[in-house]
Amino acid sequence: MPPRDLPELIPPYLRALSARSEAVARQFAPDAREALATPDDRDDPIGDHAHSPLPGLVHRYPDRVLILPTLACAAHCRFCFRRDRVGAKGMSDAQLDAALAYVSARPAVREAILSGGDPLTDPRLGALLRRLDAIPHLDWLRIHTRLPVHDPKRALKVAADLPEERRAALWIALHVNHADELTPETRAAIRALQGRGAFLVSQTVLLKGVNDDAATLSTLFRALVALGVKPYYLHHPDRAAGTEHFRVPLARGRAIAETLRATLSGLAQPAYILDIPGGHGKVWATDAFVTPAANGWVARATDGSLHPYPADADAEVAPAEPK
Ligand code: SF4
Repeated sequence: MPPRDLPELIPPYLRALSARSEAVARQFAPDAREALATPDDRDDPIGDHAHSPLPGLVHRYPDRVLILPTLACAAHCRFCFRRDRVGAKGMSDAQLDAALAYVSARPAVREAILSGGDPLTDPRLGALLRRLDAIPHLDWLRIHTRLPVHDPKRALKVAADLPEERRAALWIALHVNHADELTPETRAAIRALQGRGAFLVSQTVLLKGVNDDAATLSTLFRALVALGVKPYYLHHPDRAAGTEHFRVPLARGRAIAETLRATLSGLAQPAYILDIPGGHGKVWATDAFVTPAANGWVARATDGSLHPYPADADAEVAPAEPK
C-alpha cells in the first residue's frame, strides 16, 4: 500500500521562515518522494498500536504512560513518525476520562507524557494538566511540542494559560531540528514557557539535507543550552512510510554522534537514540545496544531481545524547493 498522503499544512509564520531558510523549507514542503513505499518502512514505526490498551493511551514502559489527546499540529512536518494519523480526530472527552482513570488506578505509573499531534494546540490542555496534577503518584508531567517552532505567537498565548499552581514538576520537550528555527519569536515563546516554571529539554530528529552534519547540530545544541534548554534526544529518523528521503544511514549518524562527543560540552550533548522498529523501545545507538551484522545492524532491546536493522544507503538530497 502506498504511504498516506499527508496534507500540506504550513502556517504563515513558518511559510515566511521557509522562504529565508532552506533547512526549514525542506521540513515542511511536500515532496513527490513521499509516495514511495520501501520494504522496511512501517505506518506505525515505533509500535504505538502494539502497546495501546485504550484509544489514545500508550503504555510501553512500566513507570510512564503516553497520552495523545489530539492528533492536530499547527504544521505538518513531512518526516513525521506518526504521519499515518496526524491531522485525524483526537481523543474524545470520554476517552480522556478513561485514560485518566487508567493512570489513577496504577500507582506504578510515575510520569504522564502528553504527545500527539501537538498537545499545545488542544484547548483542553490546561484542564488536562490540572487533572493529571491531582493524581498523587505522578511525580512529573511531560509535554512534547513543536508549537514554539510552528507558530510562536500561538505558543505564547498557550504559555500564558498554563496553570500556575502545580504540585508535579512540568517538563516540556521542544522538538527543534535546526538553529534557523530559533528565531526571536520562538525564543520569546521558549522564555514564556520557562517563565511559567516549566523545565525545557529538546528533541531533534536527524534529517538528511536538514541537519545531518556535526557542525549544524553543534550550532543548534549550543544555542539551546544558551537558552536554558537541555538537548535531550537526537533521534535516528524513524522508518515511517513516505520518509525514506530524509533517512540518514545509522553508520553516518553514529559517526556524527562521535564527533559531537569529542567536541561539545556534555551539557550540550543529547543521547543519540534508535527507536527499534516494531515497538521494542528506545535504545542508545551505541555499541552497547547496536552492533554491526552481515546485512546491516542488530539492535538489542532493553528486554534482551535482538532485532535486525537495515544498513540503508544515503538517499539523494532533495532539490531546493522554490521559495
Ligand atoms: S509536530 Fe510532531 S506530530 Fe506534529 S507533524 Fe511534526 S513530527 Fe508529526
